[in-house]
Order: sequence, then C-alpha cells, then structure tokens
Amino acid sequence: MSFSRRDFLKAGVLGASAFFVAGPSGAGVALAAKKHRSLEIAEIERTTVKVPYRETPARSMNRELPHWRYSEICEVTLKSGHVGFGETLLYYTWGAPTDEAVKQSIGKNAAEIMWSDELGAGLQMACFDAVGKANDAPVHALLGHKVHDKTPLSWWNIDTSAEDMASECTEAYKQGYMAYKTKGRPWFDVWEQVDKAAKVVPDNFKIDMDFNDTLLDAKRGIPILKDLEKYPQVQIFETPIPQSDIAGNQAICAATDVDIAMHYGNPKPVIAIREKICDGFIIGRGASFTMNGGAVSAMADMPFWLQLVGTSITATYSLHFGGVLSHATWPAVNCHQLYTHTLLTKPIVVKDGFAKVPDGPGLGVELDRDAIAKLRVPKPKSRPEPKRLLLTTWPDGRKMYVGNTGRVNFMLSVGRGKMPYFERGVTTTLVPDDGSSKWQEIYEKARKAPLMIKP
Ligand SMILES: [Mg+2]
Repeated sequence: MSFSRRDFLKAGVLGASAFFVAGPSGAGVALAAKKHRSLEIAEIERTTVKVPYRETPARSMNRELPHWRYSEICEVTLKSGHVGFGETLLYYTWGAPTDEAVKQSIGKNAAEIMWSDELGAGLQMACFDAVGKANDAPVHALLGHKVHDKTPLSWWNIDTSAEDMASECTEAYKQGYMAYKTKGRPWFDVWEQVDKAAKVVPDNFKIDMDFNDTLLDAKRGIPILKDLEKYPQVQIFETPIPQSDIAGNQAICAATDVDIAMHYGNPKPVIAIREKICDGFIIGRGASFTMNGGAVSAMADMPFWLQLVGTSITATYSLHFGGVLSHATWPAVNCHQLYTHTLLTKPIVVKDGFAKVPDGPGLGVELDRDAIAKLRVPKPKSRPEPKRLLLTTWPDGRKMYVGNTGRVNFMLSVGRGKMPYFERGVTTTLVPDDGSSKWQEIYEKARKAPLMIKP
C-alpha cells in the first residue's frame, strides 16, 4: 500500500519536520525530491503597504490606532521556485520579523524553521505557505488533522459611538457574520451601545465586549454586566477586571451567565483552569504558541477564539488554525473587516457566521498584486504618531480632553483610575486639529494628564 505525500500530511500521520527530513519513501526518492523540490529558502522580500480603513471604522481607529494601517507583506522564495507569503501588522503584532531573523533564514530549510515563533508573524506565515505550496498541501495539513471544514469568524471594531456600532453590526450581519466584538470603555455609554446594536440584529447574533479590565473590580463591574446580560445578543465579556484578580473573576463568573473570556497565559493557564476564573480563552501569537494553547484548551474542554490580527491574509491563515483546533469554536477575531482592501484576489466568504477552511496548496489564496503595488509605501522608521486630541463629554456638562502620549492605547494607559467610571450619556470624539493656537494649547496640556473641565 502506498501513500502520497498529501495522504500522509492529511492524515496527520507524521509530524511536519519528521516528514520533510526523512520522507515516506526510499532514499533515492527522497534525494530526487530534495533536488527538485528543495525547501531551502533562496530569497525573502518584504513590502510595506498602507491599507485604508473603511469610513466608519476610520472614525474610531483615527482616535487611537491610526497606525494599524501599516502592514508588511513578506514573501519567501524557495529554491524549488515556490513563493509563500505572509503579513505582519507592523505596529500591532506579537512579533515583527527582524532584519536579523530574515538574514538568518536565508539558506535554511523552510520546513525546519517554520515552527519557530522567533521568526515573527509575516515570515512564519510565509514559510508555512511556501512549504504547503511546495508539497501541494494546505497549511492546515501542516498544522495537524482537520476537524472542522468551516470555522466561525467575528467582526471587530474598537470602541465606537453607539450609532457606528449599530451600523457596523448591520453591515456585519449583511455580510454573513453572526458575531461582533468591540471594546467596553468608560468614555462611551456601554448601555446605549448595546441597546442600539441589539435593535438592528437578531437574537442569535452575538455581541462580545472586551473591557480590558476597565471595570476595575467585581463590586463595581457586576451591576453593569448584569444590565448588559439582559440582551440575548450579549454572549461574551472579555477581561472585565484584571485577569490576576482570582476572587473577583470567580465572583463575576458566578454572577453572570454570559461567558467570560480571558487572554491565554495571564494568569498561567493551569491556574485559570483550576480556579475557574473564565469560561474560555483568547489565543493567538506564533504557530507553536497557538497550537499549544489550543491543545491545552482541548484538554480542559474549554472553548477559545483565535485572535490573529491583520488584513484578509492573516484572517486566511487563521482559518487554517480554526480547521485543526477542536476547541476554536468561539468566533475568531482577525480585524480584517476594518480595511477597504483584502490584499487577496478573492475575499473571504462568510455565511451564517462561518467561513470555509481553504483546501488549496499553502494558504490556498493569492495575493492581489495590483492592490499591493498601489498601496506600497516606504517602511516608517518608527510607529507613526499623529497628534490626536480626544474630547469626552457627559450629559451634566463635564468635559475631558486627552492627548496622545506616545503609548499605544493611550486612553487605556492614562485612563485606569484617573477617569470617571462608566456612566450613561458619555461619548467621545476626535477634535480635528484646526491649526489654531487654542487647539495646540489644549493638546499640550491634555498630553500630560486628562484635562477635566467642570461646568
Ligand atoms: Mg482583548
């Protein structure tokens, strides 16, 4: 009985490295394969693109995350001639490939190095794509055994006005999504956000709110969570309070039927599982970390969502992990809906909340080279940090200005404990720089500390 390479990979009979080093056949065949299908990396090319945001997400991303527009496409050419690609959101990633990592990868066997998370996002993704293409196997077959033919995806936005959240939920539902993840913040009215959004989608459309621990403690947080859980759409609360607050998170889990999600790794997974401080996890980083986290979640029989963030290139890569990880049953957060361009020749199709796991060689998709040529920009020397002045207003006439401080998520970093707690009627906008000395004066003050103006 003989097996093709693809059969072995599909069946998950051999680990990737064992397969590629030894091969399933005799030495002569292996040598011939080496000669004609060498997985040695001949060349690595990186291209920076600046991808526009769609109009509605742009309004909110311009406040806090204007730099997510920069993506680096990494292309790995093997000696065999196969070209794999991947991407890194340069200023929001678990790891951008360094010049050193690129240099050291030249001449290496892509299959031998692809499991190293040290490569960085785009380079690792490109190695998986290249090795898959060279072996006529989809990336999911290199990762493990496919257990899902389709995998759930979530729409994503940072915190927005209630109107924008409702319009984005409408758009998500229209495009086949059944889940929406956003932020819960004390500078927006979370009651109004959920209320407006819930009115435009059916009961089985799920809304997840990530508080990034801004509810601070269980005592103050629980009443708000109890208000929001009344909406059938509210499915998950992420990190309502600091993840290290074991007793507080246990109290929250006991108080609400809404699932509590936590970023995997803080506290240690064994503690999170043993102490029952959450119902599931958020997992994403390099391929090794993600697969390990997926295995631990399966062992604990806990669901999780994949959080691999980028354009549709990264979202496609994420689909492959969704195909092999049994417990990746919460909708993945890839954020690719933010952008006007997919950077692929065909968009990811979502139906009833799920996308098909691709079965073509490698990632199973092709780069939109016209779009990349059009969006190409020089790589910034450092994270672009345009001046931003934010105005938060409350119904009683209080106003607060905050200027960007140079930190990513500067509202979060200046906000903890220094801003008023969650209230109804609060909202936040970006104050455009009109070039006036007044704007500049407020901006300079608001960069140092939140500038509160009482009526
Ligand atoms: Mg989060």
